[in-house]
Amino acid sequence: MCANYEGFFKKFHETIDNCMDDVTRNNFANLETNSKRVAYLCSLPAIKSYDLRSDIEKSETGGEFPVKKDLEKARQLKDEGNKAVQKGDWAKALQLYSQSMVFVPRKETEELSILYANRSAALSHLEQYEETLSDIKRCLSLGYPRHLRYKVYERKARTLLVLKRNQEAITAFQNTISALDEAESLNKEKRQKMRTDAKLMLEILNKGLTLAGNPKDPEPLKKTPPKPKLPGKNNPQYPAASEAIQIDFDEKKGRYATATRDIQAGETLLIERPFSGVLLGEYSRTHCQNCFIKCSIPLPCPNCPNVVFCSEKCSDTAQKTYHSYECQILPLLWKSGCSVTCHIALRMITQNRKEYFNEISANIDEKPTGVYKTSDYRNIYHLVAHEDERTKQDFLHRSQMTVFLVKLLEISGYFDGKPREKPVEIDELKSMGVDEKHNEAVALIGGLVLKNLQILQFNAHEVFELQCPKPRVGKNIIKHNGKSVFLAGAIFPTLALFNHSCDPSVVRYFCGPYIVVKAVKNIKKGEEVAENYGPIFTTVPKENRQADLKEQYWFDCTCVPCQQNWPLYEEMTENYMRFKCDSDRPCPNVVAVPYDCQEFMIKCGLCEQHTNILKGLKSLQDTDMMYKLGRAAMEEGKYGEAIKKFVEILKLYDATLAPPYKSYYDCIQDMRRCMLALGNYSIV
Ligand SMILES: [Zn+2]
Ligand SMILES: [Zn+2]
Ligand SMILES: [Zn+2]
Ligand SMILES: [Zn+2]
Repeated sequence: MCANYEGFFKKFHETIDNCMDDVTRNNFANLETNSKRVAYLCSLPAIKSYDLRSDIEKSETGGEFPVKKDLEKARQLKDEGNKAVQKGDWAKALQLYSQSMVFVPRKETEELSILYANRSAALSHLEQYEETLSDIKRCLSLGYPRHLRYKVYERKARTLLVLKRNQEAITAFQNTISALDEAESLNKEKRQKMRTDAKLMLEILNKGLTLAGNPKDPEPLKKTPPKPKLPGKNNPQYPAASEAIQIDFDEKKGRYATATRDIQAGETLLIERPFSGVLLGEYSRTHCQNCFIKCSIPLPCPNCPNVVFCSEKCSDTAQKTYHSYECQILPLLWKSGCSVTCHIALRMITQNRKEYFNEISANIDEKPTGVYKTSDYRNIYHLVAHEDERTKQDFLHRSQMTVFLVKLLEISGYFDGKPREKPVEIDELKSMGVDEKHNEAVALIGGLVLKNLQILQFNAHEVFELQCPKPRVGKNIIKHNGKSVFLAGAIFPTLALFNHSCDPSVVRYFCGPYIVVKAVKNIKKGEEVAENYGPIFTTVPKENRQADLKEQYWFDCTCVPCQQNWPLYEEMTENYMRFKCDSDRPCPNVVAVPYDCQEFMIKCGLCEQHTNILKGLKSLQDTDMMYKLGRAAMEEGKYGEAIKKFVEILKLYDATLAPPYKSYYDCIQDMRRCMLALGNYSIV
């Protein structure tokens, strides 16, 4: 993820750079810890006198600031929603009511309850019955006006009938009848008719239930996809990984993953939640702030109009931890133009209380032993940061970023241990300095933020979803044709231990907030299991791959394609087949056999023994047909079936041939596309 310094931070960065004379620069360069770097910079007069107000006022992008809800706007959107209803456009109404909710101030509970009631009507027309019930529940808990309640109780009853939850429907009809007593604005006749109808329904339902022996209601349908699970056992030391993976260490490579046994293509090797993950600003009103899934029926934050959640569960998690601090400062972050990496560095702090960092700070430089937990900040702290190789300019730039993030933490109330309730006033930004009473916190937390920024440079991952075009009526969604779209940045502590290869043996995709890593190749016991940090050898020439990796990750790639100068996909020859040496005592050599070869005993150039290629050719003769079947299944959206076929083909290939060759990578590429189609997606 590359940094993007447009927005007001760029100006701040340049101004401070220009203000620093040689003495200050030297002082800074001589500092040895992250804590001291941040504390020193914070103490400089140039920082203390830096006034952000006009920059923020000028900035038009990145959300409203100061953060405030807007009742008028909410009402306007609601009216538009009501108009859509009159036209019978329920889908449009659903959208407009959702947009309206975002702007309703927290104290306007009645206004919000009416919106939930209206949205439940739209949902019921759109036959989204479980969601209808959820919105009715929200509406009632917010104190929907008593004289209108008969409407939602009746809607609830009818919805439950559709879902065959008859016992609950009985209660809802009873509630309708009592609520009708309070329906003052309803005229007598209508009231009487509704009452009679409800009573009739009750009679029918009771009779039916008695006849059927009073069966229990069916369970409500669960919409949230189940948490993905590793098929076999976990690695006891690294529980996010399968027992087929172990983490090894050597001085040169650091920590890396290897296979503890033969692994078959298609196997799930790792499932991990991010330690921290941050949604990009541009998706904050369409995707869940907490789990990144697209919300067609969003729940807004009660305090700001900037973010939405997919469920009460995600909303609670966020409000109890990071979002209560971030709520008021989000537009500042977005307006600053800092990269999502900076935001993750901040989130790594706001999601835990200050006391947590106080507690662990004493021994933080000792690598924790014991089970490697995803949620343990100390594991993140010990990921690669290359602190010794950094230049003072690098430290200076990142420290300036940190000063800004620390300022935001102060404003958010984090240092006081209590999220602020009042909106931020613009005058609070007339200085980038932090109140001296927070000096200790600035040194500790600022030092960690600076460390986070360095760690994230090498260890962050992109979170993406497939965006697929609306399918034509009667057609399946052809998800494998979707486009991968970058939604969020995140850090996965166990996955971060995997090294890079330009010919990776795994693919990663997302299931809700979880990252799922699967083998796309057969991997032999003892082999390294590598993922990919960006460039793939089949499409990017070696010089470019090496340069990219060096620039962003600071290492020289020594993967097999890099060492052996493997050709790009386009340049792979189709003139001969690459047989594995298969003599009585096979050697690691590749025996090149032209397609029009007339012999069947071919001498290996290395061990000088003979390989009988007839056996191999025979086992490969069906692979073309099998590949066609796999492709056909994929085109029909039968991804599981397609993957099975591709796995079978790879097994046959691997028994006889040695990569690289085109049909091998065709098969891997299609298997990868099928796997991506199993992950998060949205229809656009
Ligand atoms: Zn969510
Ligand atoms: Zn908020
Ligand atoms: Zn490489
Ligand atoms: Zn040989």
